[in-house]
Amino acid sequence: MDKLGLRSDIDLALHLPLRYEDETRLTPLAALREGQVAQVEAVVSDSRIEPRPRRQLIVRVRDGAEELLLRFLHFYPSQQKSLAPGARVRVRGEVRCGFFGREMVHPAFKLVGDDSPLPASLTPVYPSSAQLPQAYLRKAIVSALARAPLQEMLPAALLPPGLPSLREALQFLHHPPPDAGLATLGDHSHPAWQRLKFEELLAQQLSQAQAKRERLQLRAPALHGRTDAGLHKQLLAVLPFQLTAAQQRVSAEIAVDLAREQPMHRLLQGDVGSGKTVVAALAAALAIDAGWQCALMAPTEILAEQHFRKLVHWLEPLGVGVAWLTGSRKGKARTQMVARVASGEAALVVGTHAVIQDDVQFAKLGLAIIDEQHRFGVQQRLALRRKLVEHAGPAPARGRGGEGAGVNSSHEDGDRAKLEPHLLMMTATPIPRTLAMTYFADLEVSTIDELPPGRTPVLTKVFAESRRDEVVARIRDEVAQGRQAYWVCPLIQESEALDLRNATQTYEELAAALPGHAVGLLHGRMKPAAKAEVMAQFVAGTLQVLVATTVIEVGVDVPNASLMVVEHAERFGLSQLHQLRGRVGRGAAASVCVLLYAAPLGESGKARLKAMLDTHDGFEIARRDLEIRGPGEFMGARQSGDALLRFADLAEDNRLLQHARRVAPLLLEQHPEAAQRHVQRWLGAGAEFLKA
Ligand code: ADP
Ligand code: MG
Repeated sequence: MDKLGLRSDIDLALHLPLRYEDETRLTPLAALREGQVAQVEAVVSDSRIEPRPRRQLIVRVRDGAEELLLRFLHFYPSQQKSLAPGARVRVRGEVRCGFFGREMVHPAFKLVGDDSPLPASLTPVYPSSAQLPQAYLRKAIVSALARAPLQEMLPAALLPPGLPSLREALQFLHHPPPDAGLATLGDHSHPAWQRLKFEELLAQQLSQAQAKRERLQLRAPALHGRTDAGLHKQLLAVLPFQLTAAQQRVSAEIAVDLAREQPMHRLLQGDVGSGKTVVAALAAALAIDAGWQCALMAPTEILAEQHFRKLVHWLEPLGVGVAWLTGSRKGKARTQMVARVASGEAALVVGTHAVIQDDVQFAKLGLAIIDEQHRFGVQQRLALRRKLVEHAGPAPARGRGGEGAGVNSSHEDGDRAKLEPHLLMMTATPIPRTLAMTYFADLEVSTIDELPPGRTPVLTKVFAESRRDEVVARIRDEVAQGRQAYWVCPLIQESEALDLRNATQTYEELAAALPGHAVGLLHGRMKPAAKAEVMAQFVAGTLQVLVATTVIEVGVDVPNASLMVVEHAERFGLSQLHQLRGRVGRGAAASVCVLLYAAPLGESGKARLKAMLDTHDGFEIARRDLEIRGPGEFMGARQSGDALLRFADLAEDNRLLQHARRVAPLLLEQHPEAAQRHVQRWLGAGAEFLKA
């Protein structure tokens, strides 16, 4: 039972049937119809082993004048013995019409007395394994149900009306009466199911609300940077563009959070190309102005480097020290950087996971920014947050200019060791509303819902692989006009070598087809320095075509690129495709995204390509992605093996979710102990998982 995760009485009580069998009634032999699954009771009249056409046990049972034949191709001697003439048996199986009349092949049977009672409820059939017989599981569950601590903990006033208690609900679901509507049990709309789902959703909302409360107990440095003066204003002045209204709005939201003494926990979502980087830079400016450090972390080295260049370009002339930490930066270079971070000389630290390694100690980290946060797994994000907490050590306030002095004054009294940095997460994969409410209820969300002006929408085309030559011709046109193109080859999970061969072949093919133009190759096996070199050449325009595996997926920004070709597009996830398409259409030129696919297309492949044709809206893409993949995969939780919701279904149970959202704060307020016990019962040690 351990294997099925059935350890405690509660586990067993929550192990619900897959379906039910009706053993509550008997069908008279005379009433049996072919194809029907029925239970009958009769007396064995004859039992013999027939050697031909193949060895089998043939048992005849009688009920008055009616007869039924039972046929067993495999049987134990003990079974043969118990089915002796005169024995009264209860038999359940499917009725067939055989050569000798009506028969059942391999029916379930048991010996009964003259007046053995029929079960009063439907018989549950549980998810199980070969080693664990149903009969054993049924018995274990009956006793677990009796023992399990299922007492009502929720005040009736907070429950949705008309639902049974948890104990009643479980009793019902395990042992429904014969007249229970099997349809409502099957589609989980029965009130007993509703109760269970509500419990689960409530536990989740409670744990989110609790996480939020805990966070509000924490202390962060209040970063009173001014937006109308100092670094923030200077940065705005050197930008080659005006902020969009959406960028201004989210920047203001972030500024308000940063000025608070509770750590910010905000998700900045905005479609690819919506201009999140500059919003991050402005937030960094506020933190630095207030005399604190800011760390910016990206999932890949290429992306980190790109951020680094941009931020150095913007901020260094304004007197900000910027450090760069990545996995490939080792030895003395790293030691120097680490020292600059530790001394506080580097006010802004940009990098990959390397930023949170053990040897990195910040002088005073006030703000941590995580770019493309969805690329970090749930567990990684958790680890990241813990790391950052550890690293946000106390330090003497060393203000830049006047702003920083005394930022910390209200915590001088010994509380300072508990300071946490503010956290800003960024993503181009927006979280659909229902998911946001469920899993990220402890997260403030800012949304950039407009693209910078002057962008022309990308034209999307879906071609079969056979039209590859046309696509190559198209690239030739594009580079002839001085523009640039990407060609992305899929990552072949099983074989990195195959993956590479594929990309290399395409690279050679394109290089041959485009004489006089420079083609570059970028793949995961290259050394970071070599990758950076190729990328830099593409950015500078010395390479016209870049053949790449998905290493370029996130964040790369080359406005002159106007054509994106994705080979084997059917192998990519929807949000990945959307990200890739977002690499083009960043400049003024009309851009095209060509999705090449290899037939035959599976259902979900078809759905993904269709979604790409249908819409450019990142929110709609995210919604469809959720629909195609389900919440577990969407959130990347699959890697951790945790089911997110066992009973409730976000698509169907919105009403229950709303109710849970409404009552969770009330319960915490009015019945904190009940809330605590409820979370414990449902989430146990897993609760922290939900805080990520
Ligand atoms: P993303 O949100 O995908 O991270 P970026 O921050 O990389 O987008 O921005 C995409 C491009 O748009 C960059 O070249 C950036 O400099 C430019 N950009 C950002 N904001 C604006 C704006 N308000 N007006 C014009 N261009 C902008
Ligand atoms: Mg970005």
